[in-house]
Amino acid sequence: MQTVGRFAPSPSGRMHLGNVLCALLAWLSARHQNGAFLLRIEDLDAMRCPRSYADLIMDDLRWLGLDWDGEVPYQSERAPIYEKYEQILREKGLLYPCFCSRAALHAASAPHLSDGRVLYAGTCRELTPAEIEEKRKKRAPATRVRVPDEIISFTDGVFGAYSENLAEECGDFIIRRSDGVFAYQLAVTVDDGLSGVTEVVRGSDLISSTPRQIWLYRLFGFEPPHFVHIPLLCDVDGRRLSKRDEDLDLGLLRERFTPEQVIGALAFAAHLTDRAEPASVRELVQDFDWSRIPRHELCLPPMFR
Ligand code: GLU
Repeated sequence: MQTVGRFAPSPSGRMHLGNVLCALLAWLSARHQNGAFLLRIEDLDAMRCPRSYADLIMDDLRWLGLDWDGEVPYQSERAPIYEKYEQILREKGLLYPCFCSRAALHAASAPHLSDGRVLYAGTCRELTPAEIEEKRKKRAPATRVRVPDEIISFTDGVFGAYSENLAEECGDFIIRRSDGVFAYQLAVTVDDGLSGVTEVVRGSDLISSTPRQIWLYRLFGFEPPHFVHIPLLCDVDGRRLSKRDEDLDLGLLRERFTPEQVIGALAFAAHLTDRAEPASVRELVQDFDWSRIPRHELCLPPMFR
């Protein structure tokens, strides 16, 4: 079976080094296996994701030498497709409207999980049709999916065995917001499933989403892909990089460095090479090996200070 990898950025800003590392490893892994590599723009929240950022991401990927195959889907244009899959969940009796406000969800009494997420208390789980009708007059509901008391396990390509009991460690989750926008969990599963993605590479901050997505894959009749979560990049002080680190976005990096300098430094940070020397993506393909990537956070080379 041919490997199909992908990079699925949310264009809410210019790419930063963490995004580039993710794109680089996803691309190297797919191309090392002579696989296809897809690009998808995750602009579900169209207000926060202008087209100009998607254009810049594609320009930055080309500058880095990371190519992709086929058309680029935009999630903001795919609501009718997500609706079909929402319908599958509805027909299985798994959906219910949730009227809880953000404040109610984050109330002090709500059980918090170790990663800071809030376990849904089930407030709207058993509303009667009359209660639903009454509440609808006051506010539009989000749509939540009822999860089973079931352990979902997978073997991550870097972090190894990972499992989660959906009811105890995740709780019923939102698949569509009250403004009608579909949630990441549903859209990403439908899109990766429909495009035949066999390998998902993304930051380790998303590892706790994976059990939910595997459960959805199975409900939709898709084969779940192989998941690889990569350790996050930290700056020299051990602080996680984020989109707020504008000093490290590709706009500035492109003024200061060549693509080979950026790629070489990231490959070194990821332990793929022994020296922080400039390298092109093509040079790194042949020797690419997931077993070199450590589980601990990756430290940014001093040149980016
Ligand atoms: N769109 C997500 C992000 O940019 C990535 C989603 C994924 O790779 O599954 O953080």
